[in-house]
Amino acid sequence: DICTEYLEGLVRDAHALAAEDPELWGKPADYIPELAHIDPAQLAISVALADGRVLSAGDYKTGFSIQSISKVFTLSIALGRIGDSLWNRVAREPSGNPFDSILKLEQEKGKPRNPFINAGAIVTTDALLSGHAPKEALSEIIQFVRAAAEDDDIHINARVAQSEKTTGYRNLALAHYLRSYDNLVNEPDYTLGVYYHQCAIEMTTVQLAKAGRYLASLPDAPKLIAPAKVRSLNALMMTCGQYDGSGEFAFRVGLPSKSGVGGGLLIIAPRRGSIAIWSPGLNEKGNSKMGTYIAERMSRELDWGVF
Ligand code: GLN
Repeated sequence: DICTEYLEGLVRDAHALAAEDPELWGKPADYIPELAHIDPAQLAISVALADGRVLSAGDYKTGFSIQSISKVFTLSIALGRIGDSLWNRVAREPSGNPFDSILKLEQEKGKPRNPFINAGAIVTTDALLSGHAPKEALSEIIQFVRAAAEDDDIHINARVAQSEKTTGYRNLALAHYLRSYDNLVNEPDYTLGVYYHQCAIEMTTVQLAKAGRYLASLPDAPKLIAPAKVRSLNALMMTCGQYDGSGEFAFRVGLPSKSGVGGGLLIIAPRRGSIAIWSPGLNEKGNSKMGTYIAERMSRELDWGVF
């Protein structure tokens, strides 16, 4: 059975391994200047379990930038609010390209491959924004995350949002390109303003593990979206949650997940647990390097993989 000592052992092992080979921590994202200076030698693990316990180890009191993990929450809101018509604007196939790639967008005539790559997430945010002021859309997103975590102490780090905005030429390019295909309703600056702020939400692994309970269908999770939509989200997390590392993650871990360039991972073990791991150093796909190693160990040792 899973217990705190087990998680503490994982954190200890990770630090011991990386003491021999510091490369194992990976390198924090540096294209967002505000994230570049974070000490990579940090690791936090939290697990929300079906019996209501939340177990944690390591740096679980430190908040981190959830970045692309926010895309799971915006997609949840969008599917609840506008439903299946979102799929007219975004497809549901893994892209096989990096998260910020523009490559397939021309071939697919401005319809992003899935809602988790940047292009698809920008369209999803654009859909949430329509008919609202940016402030209202953002407040809807943060309220959803707080309701999911049952914790009001979750905030946006405005410095991180601003930092990404000043260097966000690639996302700006994606947004303009989408707009040229009429797949962006709002002005690119408008939609990206909301997008950068949703990415700059800060959470601890405790908060993130609790926020993922509705995706794991845990008994004590707040009811936020219909069960059919929970299944759709998990399918997309399994196939697209780690960008062009999704196949490898399914092979090694076998669980639906979503990564962010802040080094966070949300991993869903349906009906068993919601796992949040944070370690800010990334691998070559932009996903947490030590986090992926820990996820692989946990899935194997707990036998939680869905296959
Ligand atoms: N805000 C980041 C970006 O748009 C999110 C990317 C990520 O977490 N993979 O580049």
